[in-house]
Amino acid sequence: MFNLILFGPPGCGKGTQSTNIIERYQLQHISTGDLLRHEVSNETTLGVEAKKYMDQGLLVPDEVVIGMISSKIDETPNTRGFIFDGFPRTKAQAEALDKLLDFKAAPIQLVLSLEVPEDELVRRIVERGITSGRSDDNEEVISKRIREYYEKTAPVASYYDSLGKLVRLVGNGTIEATFELIKKEIEQYLLPA
Ligand code: AMP
Repeated sequence: MFNLILFGPPGCGKGTQSTNIIERYQLQHISTGDLLRHEVSNETTLGVEAKKYMDQGLLVPDEVVIGMISSKIDETPNTRGFIFDGFPRTKAQAEALDKLLDFKAAPIQLVLSLEVPEDELVRRIVERGITSGRSDDNEEVISKRIREYYEKTAPVASYYDSLGKLVRLVGNGTIEATFELIKKEIEQYLLPA
């Protein structure tokens, strides 16, 4: 099994590049943002609770997100591997993920961090907001989401760096150029499906 984390601030291109990666390597995509939005649109108890945080640009509590990931991993027994997108976002989530994957004897092999300057992130999210219909893709909430990223999520990079798993990639070129960089890294571990 090959398990990969796509890491980086909101608007860095994680969603777009996940689509490219899934198609080429046939990995199972787990996006906590997508899973949460699904719960919100179905108005589940979890969704109603999570929406309060999401609408303010704040992180949803760790235990909620970790529980969701745990069920998703259990639902997918036979896979080439997982691509985690938007997770882990705190050190507690990273440690919980390590424990969950320990059970499968399939640790995270690679963490790709897409690095994009802040003004470019805001520009991209505002543009995406025109068509995404996401209630958190507006200028006021975006700045809070980016602040949450630098305060709570950026330290997760150091955690994986200390384990020798982090690779930082320039993420503000074209989608194709960034995907070329990603392919080079992944193909040191895994060939296309
Ligand atoms: P995203 O689509 O990944 O940008 O996530 C949208 C929103 O969902 C975030 O601003 C958070 O409120 C929430 N969210 C997504 N993933 C996580 C996570 N791993 N931990 C906590 N909150 C999350």
